[in-house]
Amino acid sequence: MSLPNALTREEIIRWLHEKNEEKLHQLWQWADEIRTSVVGDEVHLRGLIEISNHCSRRCSYCGINAGNTSLVRYRMEKQEIMDCVDMAQKFGYGTVVIQGGEDYGIKKEWMDDIIRDIKSRTDLAVTLSLGERPIDDLEMWRAAGANRYLLRFETSDRTLYEKIHPSMKSTIFDRVEMLRTLRNIGYEIGGGIMVGIPGQTYVSVYNDLCTFQEMDLDMIGVGPYLPHPHTPLGTEGEEIRKQTPDQIANTELMTCKVVALTRILCPEANIPSTTALGTIDRQLGRVHGLQRGANVLMPNITPLHYRKLYEIYPEKAGNDSTPAETDQLLKELIAGLGRRRGKGPGGRLHTPHRSEEDSRGLPGIHKRMRGRTLIT
Ligand code: SAH
Repeated sequence: MSLPNALTREEIIRWLHEKNEEKLHQLWQWADEIRTSVVGDEVHLRGLIEISNHCSRRCSYCGINAGNTSLVRYRMEKQEIMDCVDMAQKFGYGTVVIQGGEDYGIKKEWMDDIIRDIKSRTDLAVTLSLGERPIDDLEMWRAAGANRYLLRFETSDRTLYEKIHPSMKSTIFDRVEMLRTLRNIGYEIGGGIMVGIPGQTYVSVYNDLCTFQEMDLDMIGVGPYLPHPHTPLGTEGEEIRKQTPDQIANTELMTCKVVALTRILCPEANIPSTTALGTIDRQLGRVHGLQRGANVLMPNITPLHYRKLYEIYPEKAGNDSTPAETDQLLKELIAGLGRRRGKGPGGRLHTPHRSEEDSRGLPGIHKRMRGRTLIT
C-alpha cells in the first residue's frame, strides 16, 4: 500500500466521517503496518490497580466525581496494594499502573513509601494516574522511582473542557501544561481523550490529534465516552448531543478511527486498547483496538470487591473476572492475533526522526514508516 507521509486537516476530518468499509480497511491496514514496523508485535501488559475512588473533583462525565453521593468510597491499604503488585509480577507484567480519584486522603509521603517499596522489591515500571496533584507531590514520587504519569486532557477544546471539568482553584489548571511539567520532572507522559463527549465536534477531535503530535506524547489513551447515570453529563448529555452540529459519535467505530489516526500520527507512542473500548463492544472492542494501532493492554488486577466501586462508567469490561481469568483471556487474545506478550517494562521507543534517517539513506518505505506522518 502506498503510504502518504502527510495528512491535511481535510483528510483527517474526511477519515473521521468515512463510512465505506473498503476505505476504512485501508485505514486499519495503514495503522497496523506502522504499528508493526515501528513498535513491533509485542503487546505490553500493564497491571491496573485502582487504589481509591475518593475524589475531590466534580468532573461531569465521571462516576466517581465528588458529587455522586450514592457511591460507597474506599481507599486501599498499603498491604492490599503490595499484594496486587506481587500478582502483577507473578503474571509477568512489566508495569503497574496506580490509578485513583484525585484523593488528598492519599498523602504524598504514604505514596512515596509505596513507590519505594515497589521499586526495591521488583523491577516493575511504575505508572501513576492520580489526577492534578501539586508539583511537590509529583517531584517526590518521581524521586522515589515512579516512571510514568497518565493524565488525559480529555479534550483540547477549552470551552468544552471547562464545562465538563470544573476547576477547583481560582485559576484554570491546564492539563496540557501539567503534562509538560511532568515531562520536565522526568516522567514519561501519557495524555489522551474520550471520544464522543456531548458537545465534542469533528474539528475538536482533529485538534486533539494535532495536540498528540505536537506534544510528542509517550502514551496516548483513547476511549469512547460512556454515560454514567449518576453524573451531570449522564443526565444532560443526550440533549447537548442533539443540539451540537457536527457532534462526534461515542461509538466503537469512531474510537477505532481515532486510535488508528493516533498511531499514524504518533508512530512511537504506546497506545492502549482501552477497557472503555472493550466495554462498548465486549466481543471485539479490544481486539479491534490491537488490530488498528494499539500495542498495550491494561489488565485490571484490583481486588474484585473494590473494582465495582471504581465505577467511572457503568459495567466496565472485566469487572467480574479474577486477575487469573483476565490474564488467561488476554494471553489467548494476544496469541490469537499472532502477537506476543511484551517483555520488560515496555517504555517509550525512540526511533530517529525522518531527517536523520534521510541522511542515512534508509529505503523509502522504511523512511516513510519510521518517520512520522505530519499534519500539514
Ligand atoms: N483521577 C485520574 C484518573 C481518572 S480515571 C484523572 O483524573 O486523571 C481515568 C480516565 O477515565 C479519565 O481520564 C477519563 O478519560 C476516563 N473516564 C472517566 N469517566 C469516563 C466515562 N464516563 N466514560 C469514559 N471514560 C471515562
